Amino acid sequence: MLYDLEKETLPREEIETIQARRLHDLCVRVYANVPFYRKRFDEIGITPSDINSVRDLHLLPFTEKQDLRNHYPYGLFAVPRENIVRLHASSGTTGKATVVGYTARDLNTWAELVARSLGSAGATARDFVHVAYGYGLFTGGLGAHYGAEKLGATVIPASGGSTRRQVVIMRDFGATVLCCTPSYALHLWEAGQEAGIDFRDLPLRTGVFGAEPWTEAMRADIEQKMGIDALNIYGLSEVMGPGVAMECVEAKCGMHIHEDHFLPEIIDPVTGEQLAPGETGELVITTLTKEGLPLLRYRTRDITTLDYTPCRCGRTHARIGRIRGRSDDMLIIRGVNVFPQQIETILLETEGLTPYYQIIVTRENNLDSIEVQVEVSESFFSDEIRKLQRREAGIQKNIKEFLGITAKVRLVEPRSIQRSEGKAQRIVDKRLLS
Ligand code: ADP
Ligand code: ZN
Repeated sequence: MLYDLEKETLPREEIETIQARRLHDLCVRVYANVPFYRKRFDEIGITPSDINSVRDLHLLPFTEKQDLRNHYPYGLFAVPRENIVRLHASSGTTGKATVVGYTARDLNTWAELVARSLGSAGATARDFVHVAYGYGLFTGGLGAHYGAEKLGATVIPASGGSTRRQVVIMRDFGATVLCCTPSYALHLWEAGQEAGIDFRDLPLRTGVFGAEPWTEAMRADIEQKMGIDALNIYGLSEVMGPGVAMECVEAKCGMHIHEDHFLPEIIDPVTGEQLAPGETGELVITTLTKEGLPLLRYRTRDITTLDYTPCRCGRTHARIGRIRGRSDDMLIIRGVNVFPQQIETILLETEGLTPYYQIIVTRENNLDSIEVQVEVSESFFSDEIRKLQRREAGIQKNIKEFLGITAKVRLVEPRSIQRSEGKAQRIVDKRLLS
């Protein structure tokens, strides 16, 4: 369903024309209003008049999370404080939080783009949208909320927590669309099982899941358990919040990034060079229309690809591939790079395992080692010890074979790994504690 037919199907040339104009205006704005950027422009020896096309993008400086931290809390805002009508903060998954500010127009754009995203998921004004992202400084809850209202849907602002009660509300209120993290969706499903509520009997049709990395295997698992289409939504507070990019239900093959507002690039995370479409690297986003906290070439640290080939849904905006992981989460185990999601894929391909897992990293004699703890399903748990041990060895072998690392695998009792209400914590890094 196209929420904004005209903008979502703009021909490539028109997208680029809009981007070029907005990029130039953005440079003028930040040069005039943000001392940090003015200094960077001056150092590099460029002025806003040098930036007139998307092909000039590479001339601009990057912005990193550390720059936001260095100017904590309001140092990079581009408008007078009285024009900021809302603050949010990143969830602080990877260190000190960063603060972001929105003007009234920014909030309106955000709601529009989330409405567009929900439209990509097939949602309309007739839907009941149950929002189980946390409400608060985290952008998930309020971001999804105002977007669903803008769409004209009926919003159920559940926020995180009270999991069992939420499932009852979903059933009683007739939720048709669920917005939350994929790990929380599984937690809700599990609470439903315990309460005798089968999600497949509910009117729930679609899940809009994001805010943390997940895999195709996880999608398949959720879709089968819950009887829904599980779709991927991407965003980050620094750039806006949820709804920067969203998968379409028609193709389920990459997330359309709203290119009239965000200009994406993929770079080599080490050299900073732009990579060609299709190549894997770090996603960098320039916010074309944001007023409160505009960012030039923001390094997201998320590893993915960009695809400009036409999508069968008819939308013309480029698609970002499933996030392979955030570079902060990349584990380097004896020289081999691995993302938790690669391990997740192997686990979910193994019969009898559940999507509840954690990776424990330790250091002994200066060598890092990892242990993967994963819950087995009830039926497998009752198996004899010997069988479980054989199974552990089998998974260990697969991890070695496919990822090239040695990991200890430990199958644990059902429900022994802590459930998350927001972002799941996949890595427990004990190296930091010692
Ligand atoms: P924090 O960096 O503290 O977690 P945010 O709450 O703004 O702050 O989270 C943004 C980050 O969440 C993204 O940079 C990305 O790493 C992750 N994320 C968001 N959506 C997705 C998604 N669909 N798939 C994978 N990762 C995602
Ligand atoms: Zn599409």
